[in-house]
Amino acid sequence: MTATPKTKTIPPAQGVGTPVIWIDGQWCDRGTAMVSVYDHGLLYGDGVFEGIRVYGGKIFRLEEHLDRLYDSAKAIWLSVPMEKKELASITREALRRSGIAEAYIRHLITRGVGDLGLDPRKCLKPSLIIIVDTIKLWPEQVYETGLNVITAGTPIPHRESLSPRVKSLNYLPHIMAKVEGINAGADEVLMLDSAGAVAEGSGQNVFAVKNGRISTPPPHAGILKGVTRGVVIELATSAGYPVDQTVLNRYDLYTADEAFFTGTASEIVGIRQLDGRVIGTGQSGPVTRDLRSRFQALVRS
Ligand code: PMP
Repeated sequence: MTATPKTKTIPPAQGVGTPVIWIDGQWCDRGTAMVSVYDHGLLYGDGVFEGIRVYGGKIFRLEEHLDRLYDSAKAIWLSVPMEKKELASITREALRRSGIAEAYIRHLITRGVGDLGLDPRKCLKPSLIIIVDTIKLWPEQVYETGLNVITAGTPIPHRESLSPRVKSLNYLPHIMAKVEGINAGADEVLMLDSAGAVAEGSGQNVFAVKNGRISTPPPHAGILKGVTRGVVIELATSAGYPVDQTVLNRYDLYTADEAFFTGTASEIVGIRQLDGRVIGTGQSGPVTRDLRSRFQALVRS
């Protein structure tokens, strides 16, 4: 695959910018970006992805996200048709072309175009897509009030089936859990693993705070190792909060002083209620707020 841009006129950035999509060497916009209906990413969810934030024109933790993308691909026998360095430089170019300062970048690698059978050998080359757009998950006030969360009946996939460490295009269990939450009128859901331990949100990692100690499930328990999770552990540790990566049960969250989710899109957001139990004082707690303001300072630094 060549990274050479084909001649395509990109509308000039207007104020907040314009979404830009790069597909296998072609520059497109929202109207012209197309994939084949024979792409196994569409037919079978056979592929991997990443989601990355841009704050004030700077890409946050690009290297870590690309490392996870390449690891996800490796875990499903998908070889990325490009060196990380080259992908990083096309990503920066896509961002530059978009003119979006507060952007969200989505990388997708699909198995590519094959036939209607499962056999990935029919897919001659993987497809690589970069989307630069914007994203906003929660209104600002939610960061004050915290989220009303319920536990979903749908568990995360078993780690020896499709490892949750792989950020794959198969998000159905997480989507079903999300729908359970929507149907119940909740803001978000907590997902358990197949043994009933606390795993993660539909698109976030989860933390509890009790007596000044912070705890969160370990990645080997079968959760996505969130980049934001890692940043929060770094920030908490340097701020003097002890952090334990340990198995949590719902009891630990019900009885926590505070609980919060972390993720690229949601950043750090408090949980005010879980399964009808009020957590702490029933709003975003002081440790959550402190970490959020440290996080804001870091991404804007
Ligand atoms: N868990 C799941 C299932 C997710 O989809 C995400 C979002 N990528 C996360 C956790 C949080 O990861 P990150 O902080 O890297 O966005």
